[in-house]
Amino acid sequence: MTQTGHPPAVDATHALSSVPSAAARGEHPVPGRIRYYFGPMACGKSTLALQIDHNHARQGRRGLLLVRHDRSGTPTISSRIGITRAAVEVHEEMNIQELVRAQWAGNQRVDYLIVDEAQFLSPCQVEQLAELADHAQVDVYCFGLAIDFRSHLFPGAQRLVELADELHPVQVEVLCWCGLPGRFNARTQDNRVLREGDTVLVADTADTADNTDNTDNEPAEDHEATGEESTVRYQVLCRRHYRSGDLGPRAVPAGQLSLA
Ligand SMILES: [Zn+2]
Repeated sequence: MTQTGHPPAVDATHALSSVPSAAARGEHPVPGRIRYYFGPMACGKSTLALQIDHNHARQGRRGLLLVRHDRSGTPTISSRIGITRAAVEVHEEMNIQELVRAQWAGNQRVDYLIVDEAQFLSPCQVEQLAELADHAQVDVYCFGLAIDFRSHLFPGAQRLVELADELHPVQVEVLCWCGLPGRFNARTQDNRVLREGDTVLVADTADTADNTDNTDNEPAEDHEATGEESTVRYQVLCRRHYRSGDLGPRAVPAGQLSLA
């Protein structure tokens, strides 16, 4: 626990403390905060993202809405309660710092970033968010799934868990068929839980026709499931039923998730 980077601004009475005095802290801008809101599909994350954007905007702050892996063609953050905002699509190779710098070059402030589908960010892009928070005082709000259909952290989600100042499980509960809170996004086919397959889509998204009957915007990792479009779906399960693979007494009708 040693202070590095700045000459000691503390007096001798604080010689044992690594925390600068209040006056010394005032000389340095406060870093932005990175917040990660995570939860299963259909738990209201996008709605919360848009609410936070609204609250900041009405206070005169200027933000940038980003979405990774939007499948609509016209990138948006859309909530299930009917609100939609245009967003910037973050491509796999995009440098988010450069994106923000381009805004600055156009005399546009960026006080905060809102990132939907943040689980699909690369770990490197999460580092770029941290750089913006630490050195440009940008507040960062990330929203997304935490774990994939195999119940492992997405790489981007893992880096967010490691770097974020605050982790917020989204509290709007999505229930398993048994009534317990659902935390697991099971990928299913023919009433079975799939345990293997690609998790994160690599590259091209725009030309991927998605013919699944799952209209949910979130489980975009199923793009690679060409040939399986008609039957691969997602169902939120509690841990016990995710692990046992029990999808309940009847199959959930297609599209039910999107009504939640
Ligand atoms: Zn259950």
